[in-house]
Amino acid sequence: MELIDGNQIAADIIAELKTEVATFAGRPPCIALVRVGEDPASVSYVKKKEKTAAEIGILSRIILPPATTTQVELEKLIDDLNADPTVDGILVQSPLPKHLDEAAAFRRLAAHKDVDGFHTLNIGKVAQEDDTGFVACTPAGIMELLRRSGTDLKGKHVVVLGRSLIVGKPVALLALQKKAGANGTVTLCHSGTKDVAALTRQADVLIAAIGRAEFVTADMVKPGAVIIDVGINRVPDATKKTGYRLTGDVHFPTVSPLASKITPVPGGVGPMTVAMLMKNTVKAYKQARP
Ligand code: NAP
Repeated sequence: MELIDGNQIAADIIAELKTEVATFAGRPPCIALVRVGEDPASVSYVKKKEKTAAEIGILSRIILPPATTTQVELEKLIDDLNADPTVDGILVQSPLPKHLDEAAAFRRLAAHKDVDGFHTLNIGKVAQEDDTGFVACTPAGIMELLRRSGTDLKGKHVVVLGRSLIVGKPVALLALQKKAGANGTVTLCHSGTKDVAALTRQADVLIAAIGRAEFVTADMVKPGAVIIDVGINRVPDATKKTGYRLTGDVHFPTVSPLASKITPVPGGVGPMTVAMLMKNTVKAYKQARP
């Protein structure tokens, strides 16, 4: 069994971007990070994004409207960033406070600055196999992990657990694309799927993104499969100071001995998400300067 080291692969991507950004003449790329309110997880995610941007040489503009911001105010702020030629990429941190319409906010972004990849146009470009768009960061990170760990999906049966718009659906579309490294045969499972285990047992590559701690057990996996565990779940653990530990959607202790390659949680897909956001920001910068 080979561990797919997401920390190392993300560090490699960050180092490559740093080298590339150092060659740019004029102002460096700039990402606007918009965080509405003080959701604690969002505070730490935005900090991490700011830190990684700085490491690469990407400028970040942090915008922190209060939790009471209205939809009209948020959309005005987005319009201003859309029109600002010194901003290449815009990220509106999810989740927004409940009274705000997140999908509408994402649609308001200029598609060519939507480095998080949730604008309708960018989701459509994934389906059309148009590489000028931005792929959402977690699915893009999964594909990069597969590529860089030497897993070619051609001719493989790829089973995806979960059909969310941020992970399951886009990663299924990417695995299906008729291009080098992809070209897989894809089965997409969800809560309405009958006998999920019968399908996962056929998977050459299994991508688990359902948000259920240790759902995938050894009896659900074909020996030799490549396993990508996207899940991040908190389970109570009295031995930890925090009172919990993080676990994936895969029961790592029993599944990993069967797998040919597997991502750990943490240290697998997680670190890739920020790295791909930075890659998208550099892409937006370059596309604005043909
Ligand atoms: P989500 O929006 O809650 O979607 C979960 C999906 O799993 C849904 O499509 C649901 O089906 C399906 N599902 C739930 N229970 C199932 C079952 N028993 N059998 C088959 N399908 C089932 O979740 P998400 O946002 O995609 O996130 C999934 C996991 O990935 C979470 O643990 C999340 O924390 C993690 N995540 C990690 C990263 C990262 O950077 N590593 C990024 C994003 C998410 P229905 O559609 O029928 O409801």
